[in-house]
Amino acid sequence: MKLQNYINGQLVEPVAGQYIDNYNPATGEVYSCIPDSDEQDVELAVKAAQAAFTAWANTTAEKRGRILMRIADLIDQNLDRLAEAESIDNGKPLKLAKTVDIPRASSNMRFYGTAIQHFASEAHYMEGTEAINYTVRHPHGVAGCISPWNLPLYLFTWKIAPALAAGNCVVAKPSEVTPMTAYLLSEICMEAGLPAGVLNIVHGYGHKVGAAIVSHPKVPVISFTGGTTTGKSIAATAAPMFKKLSLELGGKNPNIIFADCDFDNALYTSVHSSFANQGQICLCGSRIFIERPLYDKFKEAFVEKVKALTVGDPLEDGTKVGAVVSEQHMQKVLSYIELAKEEGGTILAGGHQVQVEGRCAKGWFIAPTIIEGLSAECRTNTEEIFGPVVTLIPFDAEEEVIEYANCTAYGLSATIWTQNLTRAHRVAHQLHSGIVWINTWLLRDLRTPFGGMKSSGVGREGGFEALRFFTEPQNVCVKL
Ligand code: NDP
Repeated sequence: MKLQNYINGQLVEPVAGQYIDNYNPATGEVYSCIPDSDEQDVELAVKAAQAAFTAWANTTAEKRGRILMRIADLIDQNLDRLAEAESIDNGKPLKLAKTVDIPRASSNMRFYGTAIQHFASEAHYMEGTEAINYTVRHPHGVAGCISPWNLPLYLFTWKIAPALAAGNCVVAKPSEVTPMTAYLLSEICMEAGLPAGVLNIVHGYGHKVGAAIVSHPKVPVISFTGGTTTGKSIAATAAPMFKKLSLELGGKNPNIIFADCDFDNALYTSVHSSFANQGQICLCGSRIFIERPLYDKFKEAFVEKVKALTVGDPLEDGTKVGAVVSEQHMQKVLSYIELAKEEGGTILAGGHQVQVEGRCAKGWFIAPTIIEGLSAECRTNTEEIFGPVVTLIPFDAEEEVIEYANCTAYGLSATIWTQNLTRAHRVAHQLHSGIVWINTWLLRDLRTPFGGMKSSGVGREGGFEALRFFTEPQNVCVKL
């Protein structure tokens, strides 16, 4: 199957006619190819978006919302097809794609299709001076949206939906590693009646297509989710051009378990928060800190549960852990397991590649891996691995675990398990993390601000924050 770019309402070949192989990570085989686009395609996409902008910005919020809702409905109607495509492209269990990724993509569209109806402007009356200020929010024009491979359609729509709802036109690039559902979304947008040029999807490599979007002078706003190193290079290009930037970057999230926690809930959820999507969720808890009196009991039960997780064909029903996204990524994760051993870690479970039988014999699978015996400051415990690997670290005191939790450059999310709510709030406020969950994980209310502190990013997505990001405030002062 040959994917195409979606530019000016049409599915088109890349100008240079070059394509990139697209792999199924569960079989290790090429199963489709995608445009190897370059700045010529980005130029066409930006021109189409510019041409569509005035009409789209002047379309009423109600009508823009209606089109987004139609896209949401079509995503729901195509649930099975999209979920299967996501699973094949990414290696994630089909069940996860069906219950999390694709439903969330339609929720994103529906959320912003309705949120824009409630996005009000502000007015400030100046007592004594007899003047009023009112603040209007204009869409920027063409927004650039760049997303990663771990939650492909979920994160792609999380950016596109608020950008479009606010009246911008968009030039978007999905990860070249997982392009399939973005391609299917272009077909859906055509069916939903999204006007030509309002959304343009250009496939290809980050260093070509992504870089061309970021450096394009007619794209004044960039929303990026991906690695911290890529975020740095995007910021370096965008800053001197005074572009507005939203950066959602990496994480090294602490999962803090106090001895008074609800044990079963903490255990069950920690298995999930460690290994869901093969540990390739920016919010996964990769460092598990356990209060010493509970350490041995938790470790024993956790190891037993993790060893029982079925690693295998993502399309099979019982599979809990699918393939990691690419051979290159598998090698990176395995190299971190080697590093952990060099740093003195002991492997309690996993620690190796898994050979799955049958059609997945050449796929890229890693056994869920648990490591103990490492310091909180070592490289294994401070660098992002982004795979099915977690470490266990005991602690004695609250201040000690807060110091451990905060000792990385990242600050995306954290989880706290305790029945003592006073302590839960006290600890939460001292964690340098943009998102803190207490006695739960990945419970998301789309109205809340989403994003990280420190090297985990700049700005917040979610709720009205995203609509503010995708609009330019303008204050008008009237002397009465
Ligand atoms: P990357 O940073 O490698 O890539 C993200 C996207 O940027 C891809 O589409 C990529 O294209 C593109 N890109 C790469 N180089 C450039 C460039 N120079 N200019 C513009 N675009 C570029 O991240 P991954 O895809 O590997 O995703 C994993 C990372 O994403 C992890 O660090 C994870 O923590 C983070 N993440 C953060 C989230 C958050 O909300 N904070 C959520 C999910 C993931 P290509 O694929 O071709 O390289």
